[in-house]
Amino acid sequence: MVQNKPQKILTQKEMDKVYSLPYERNYHPMYEKFGGVPAITEVKFSLTSVRGCFGSCNYCAITYHQGRKIQTRSHENILEEAKILTNLDDFKGYIHDVGGPTANFRLKACKKQEKYGVCKNRLCLMPKPCPNLQVDHSDYLSLLRKLRKVDGVKKVFVRSGIRFDYLMQDKDDTFFKELCEHHISGQLKVAPEHCSEKVLRIMGKPSFNVYKSFIEKYKKINKDLGKDQYVVPYFISSHPGCTLNDAIELAEYLRDIHHMPEQVQDFYPTPSTFSTTMYYTGIDPRTMKKVYVPKTFEEKQMQRALLQYRKKENYDIVKKALIKAGRLDLIGFDSKCLIKPLKSEVNKFNDMRKKQEQEKKMHKPKGKKVGSIARQRAKMKKKKK
Ligand code: SF4
Repeated sequence: MVQNKPQKILTQKEMDKVYSLPYERNYHPMYEKFGGVPAITEVKFSLTSVRGCFGSCNYCAITYHQGRKIQTRSHENILEEAKILTNLDDFKGYIHDVGGPTANFRLKACKKQEKYGVCKNRLCLMPKPCPNLQVDHSDYLSLLRKLRKVDGVKKVFVRSGIRFDYLMQDKDDTFFKELCEHHISGQLKVAPEHCSEKVLRIMGKPSFNVYKSFIEKYKKINKDLGKDQYVVPYFISSHPGCTLNDAIELAEYLRDIHHMPEQVQDFYPTPSTFSTTMYYTGIDPRTMKKVYVPKTFEEKQMQRALLQYRKKENYDIVKKALIKAGRLDLIGFDSKCLIKPLKSEVNKFNDMRKKQEQEKKMHKPKGKKVGSIARQRAKMKKKKK
């Protein structure tokens, strides 16, 4: 058996042929006796428009089984399928998704790929978008506009992931505006995956500042449209490189934006990826440097629970994690605290905090107060003036 065989890149003709096969569009009848498969409604009325991804996140195996080159179905072929959906008995007028691994990748990353293939020694979006990247949403937008006009279709939603760093590279806001106006059902799901720059670099994701700028723009567009729409961010816990302190940093970010994720994806090694190599070897294969890997059941449990620190069932494990990380400042009654101490433990935590503060003072180098060097430099500058 051949493992990790290079993936086949499909032509548009082949893509159209595959998606024109006479699918049943339902689960196997054997599931009837179990009450059916609830998830079928989401996929039954969704359209695949693309295969492959040039995002190259280090934990994702899609590149290895679908390819880095984008392969698309023709508009005509997708519209044909949309018409089939509108004729199904249980179609209510809503197309739930038009996408694939990344919804807004409908073009090859660059023109050069047609002749020379994808670069072996560099990535298209990381660490910064490649200067050759073609950023254009017009083909996807035109497809969405056509689908909106299909008889019987009330709404066309986009629920596959939007690669926001690629979107932010687009100088033309038309797609972003129409996405917010017509294709979001109140909440847009995006995947920043973490907020720690160090962890994001190891994951192969863009800087968190890009995500913040995206959120600003999203809010502004929705405000201009008079829409009250939100973003649902997705995060991964326990990715290689993510320490308990990084998980706490993320929990604090979630506290600040008043968001508690319903789901948290705990890192799971998938075949052939960089992240999996890091997970098993503890080494980043790109730099050959050591990477911290959270592996024990307890630490994975802690990192995951921290992202849902408000859940009652996570209280004990979050408390344990904060004590372990020496973050007693986050257990208390202040608005910045993640959890409150139990009534019976208030005094115990006060004593522990005092002890910790004393220890910190004792370990501070004598005569060097925090910020004293910066203050002295500022004074010297003033004198010179
Ligand atoms: S030139 Fe840039 S966009 Fe094109 S394949 Fe190479 S890294 Fe990707």
